[in-house]
Amino acid sequence: QATEQRPPAHRYLDVVGAAKSFKGTVVMDNMNFRVAKGELVSLLGPSGCGKTTLLRIIAGLLEADTGDIILGGRNVSSLPAHKRNISVVFQNYALFPHLTVAENVAFGLRARGMSKSDVKAPVAEALALVRMDTFADRPVSALSGGQQQRVAVARALVVSPDLLLLDEPFSALDRKLRETMQIELKALLRSRGITAIFVTHDQEEAMGVSDRIAVMNSGRIEQFADPSTLYAQPASPFVMDFVGLSTRLTGHVIAQADGIATVKTHVGKVRANSQLVVGTPVQVGVRPELITPDPSTEMNQIKVQLDDVMTLGSKTVLHGVTTGADKFLCELPGIRTGYARGETVTWGWAVADTLIHEVPA
Ligand code: ATP
Repeated sequence: QATEQRPPAHRYLDVVGAAKSFKGTVVMDNMNFRVAKGELVSLLGPSGCGKTTLLRIIAGLLEADTGDIILGGRNVSSLPAHKRNISVVFQNYALFPHLTVAENVAFGLRARGMSKSDVKAPVAEALALVRMDTFADRPVSALSGGQQQRVAVARALVVSPDLLLLDEPFSALDRKLRETMQIELKALLRSRGITAIFVTHDQEEAMGVSDRIAVMNSGRIEQFADPSTLYAQPASPFVMDFVGLSTRLTGHVIAQADGIATVKTHVGKVRANSQLVVGTPVQVGVRPELITPDPSTEMNQIKVQLDDVMTLGSKTVLHGVTTGADKFLCELPGIRTGYARGETVTWGWAVADTLIHEVPA
């Protein structure tokens, strides 16, 4: 009796050594990317870094030059898109405008040969999931952007996909609606245990919806980690810049003692928890919410001229400029008063909060 070969749960989706060139230009080289069952993962990166290319290769909409796509233990590399049991939600929803909401959602099931009467129950269930059941008989052309997005999600889920891929699914929605949809969709995917990959260039969206985020740069994954690790321990200057705001100063290590490196920058010394040795060229940074306008003596300190005060309600953001024209942000919770533009002040942050990376000299 043959035993079923079940893949380990942590390699439910396994992209192995995928490469892709367009007309001789390499856009992806030896991509390895692994997703666990039930995980919600984001591909995050600037325009042109290869997010959509990777998504399309997984979906089977684009053929990789080399490499394999393993899904649930099955090598789907040579299967056409419609045989992979992967659903894709596109940025523009790609609904059929002349069909009703219910007909759009039924489309995939009908294409699989299900009868009109058999699709009724699953379509109704999928529409109820996205709270669009009362719209079943409307033409999709009469729906708002958020409603169309929900229909697109229902259409993607009704076929019980092994994997759901979403290419910038919220980018056409306004900010408030986008946030609502992110929360709703995340809850929906979690409750059904669906494995999903979101493509986005919006870091807040990626942080909000994902268990893990793959930060991409020029066709490579720079770091693949959970949101808090990415933010607190970015693996490279690129990740530090792309995920969250921070100020960067360049310099080199001038002292090393007990795992604390002292870095000389053009606006003073900055200490960091690091084993990097004397002479190493580095970049140091700090997150705005970790800067305090009332530093203690053991903190790193920096003199800035207060350039702007932005009262945003939930937070107040102070803008400071160093003598070297570096811009520092200091983010304080709530509404703060008593800061006057033009005054020179000393800000600080804990040594342990300094982000540090070696950079090419
Ligand atoms: P965006 O956020 O702008 O959608 P992306 O990260 O999804 O960008 P891709 O669309 O994957 O990036 O593109 C990666 C690179 O491959 C880009 O340099 C792009 O110009 C190139 N590229 C993508 N598709 C093609 C194609 N069909 N022919 C030639 N070059 C392509």
